[in-house]
Amino acid sequence: MKWIDLRSDTVTKPTDSMRNAMVQADVGDDVYGEDPTVNLLEKTTAQLTGMEAGLFCASGTQSNLLALMSHCNRGDEYIVGQLAHTYRYEGGGAAVLGSIQPQPLNLEPDGTLDLAKVARFIKPDDFHFARTKLLCLENTHGGKVLPMGYLAEARTFVDAHNLLLHLDGARVFNAAVKSNVAVQKITHHFDTVSCCLSKGLGAPVGSVLCGPEDFIQKARRWRKVLGGGMRQAGILAAAGLYALEYHVNRLEQDHKNARRLAAGLSEINGIGLHPGGVQTNILFADIKGDIDKLYQHLKTQKILIDPSNHLRLVTHLDIAPQDIEHTIGAFKSFFM
Ligand SMILES: *Cc1c(COP(=O)(O)O)cnc(C)c1O
Repeated sequence: MKWIDLRSDTVTKPTDSMRNAMVQADVGDDVYGEDPTVNLLEKTTAQLTGMEAGLFCASGTQSNLLALMSHCNRGDEYIVGQLAHTYRYEGGGAAVLGSIQPQPLNLEPDGTLDLAKVARFIKPDDFHFARTKLLCLENTHGGKVLPMGYLAEARTFVDAHNLLLHLDGARVFNAAVKSNVAVQKITHHFDTVSCCLSKGLGAPVGSVLCGPEDFIQKARRWRKVLGGGMRQAGILAAAGLYALEYHVNRLEQDHKNARRLAAGLSEINGIGLHPGGVQTNILFADIKGDIDKLYQHLKTQKILIDPSNHLRLVTHLDIAPQDIEHTIGAFKSFFM
């Protein structure tokens, strides 16, 4: 039996058809701009997100860092959620490599930043302060889709305050599928967006940063500086193109699996979970009792989790409905 790995949607392995697309890919030296498959991926993602241009990046971390470094100069500031990936989980890259000061603020329970609160943290134009330049949002955040009305409010807000707006859209396709809209209905509110190909979309590597042409030119320069200029990267981009064509609509299945898992686990005494709160492919369960024992028990059933009493479970391409039933059974046998 295969492993059921619920730690993250990054653990998927490329399917045979995706590998086939990679083998067939037409390639060239992308640093010379000569890789047709990379060029097509960049163009395709830009069109999907309604942006002028795209840039293929090694990871979401690199893509977000390039966005921050291209929007902000040394001594500028970006406002970001305290638990947002760009602030908390990217090694402080904006500060370390960009000399950009983060201004983290607590997120609201729905994953938004309260704009009235953001307003209070925009620094006056005065040399005592860093120059506030950018607001950074994340969609989905912890599997939650930012409300559509909020996105429009955020756009109006940044325009009124002369800020730019970046979206960490690592899972923006999950948000679009959940909302039943084309992804550009979400992204058009933003100046720039970073989308991961290697999460729910199931590609082995890569993210695409999209935005205006002149912004992407700057980001392309920073990507080279950061060692991210890749050569025959079309091998990787082919997987991304395949994912954009065949793995977007099927995200609905991951969301359905997550809902079923949540419903099953919520019946267990010892697990705290609100099944109604599950919107996309990520759910959180509060586990009473010894998490290491649960981890070991699940391991004997070929189920992998990241042990934490505030347990995050993620569904993806390599998890089928019967795996969900097996998982619910394995949790039940531990608690009952
Ligand atoms: C995964 C992720 C990223 C980027 O991660 P990489 O592992 O560097 O590709 C960025 N933002 C969010 C919200 C993520 O989940």
